[in-house]
Amino acid sequence: MSTAPVASTPSTPSPRQAFRQELLDAGLLVDTGVPGLYLRSGEFEDVVQALDRYVTRLGEADREQVPDQPRPWRLALPPVLARSVFERTDYLASFPHLIGAVSTFAGDDRAHAQLLARHAAGQDWADCLEPTQTMLVPAACHAVYPQLTGRLPEGGRLVDVLASCFRHEPSDDPARMQAFRMREFVRVGTPQEALAHRDRWVRSALEALLALDLDARQVVANDPFFGRAGRLLAVNQRDDALKFEIEVAVFGPDEPGTAVASSNYHQTHFGANFDIRAADGEPAHSACVGFGLERITLALMRRHGLDSRVWPSDVRRVLWP
Ligand code: ZN
Repeated sequence: MSTAPVASTPSTPSPRQAFRQELLDAGLLVDTGVPGLYLRSGEFEDVVQALDRYVTRLGEADREQVPDQPRPWRLALPPVLARSVFERTDYLASFPHLIGAVSTFAGDDRAHAQLLARHAAGQDWADCLEPTQTMLVPAACHAVYPQLTGRLPEGGRLVDVLASCFRHEPSDDPARMQAFRMREFVRVGTPQEALAHRDRWVRSALEALLALDLDARQVVANDPFFGRAGRLLAVNQRDDALKFEIEVAVFGPDEPGTAVASSNYHQTHFGANFDIRAADGEPAHSACVGFGLERITLALMRRHGLDSRVWPSDVRRVLWP
């Protein structure tokens, strides 16, 4: 009995790998040697900025639709988060494989000399470092909740937040970056307020992406929870339909879609962990909608071409009104 020989020629690149190479060849992304970590060109950034302003306009349209919403508190986050806050989000239990912790050198001259000697000898030196009080930001809304601890005003709160996020997911899929930006609208208040926010934004986010002529659809989703306990959490999240994603068929109908936005209802998860109470004194419910700015940029480039100056005029009008 003979087995078929294993092909010795390099396998054909997947559609994701091929697109990554196109982006690198065009200079839109610049390789750093670390999978999923790129410098971005000015042309790439122009689209990211236009999308950020587009999301701002979507937020304004949402407030026109529901005029009794609170005025948004706009926040831009640093790329790191207090470890004490991180510890209260349950991220450590659910996504230990995605986290990034900040370490630094805290030794004396002697320890420094040892570190340099190890480095010079080509040895690993990371264990010469010590943890700091900061973590890389895993999700834009996490830094928001500790700022809302206590009793919320009547009508709850709405927070508009932009964050540079990190997730340790080395990949050759250009849409799976380790460092990327998320723009979120976070709603905290009564169950009705949080759920209405989640449901309205699932529809608005889908419409907003269809308006860019992307092949977008709404799906019930789950987070990539870690381990055996995580599989149960994922099933529960799906069964309770807590998380909706807007997926774009970036690489055609036969490839898995790419999630570019999501709208999530957290029930009292963050309200309880951060001791946030609604105006009626009950634990606050929360929901957030998030837009992945780099992912939408990539979906647009794949759909309309790498040069945004020659995209269809109806798409350009939406992004650069
Ligand atoms: Zn969020």
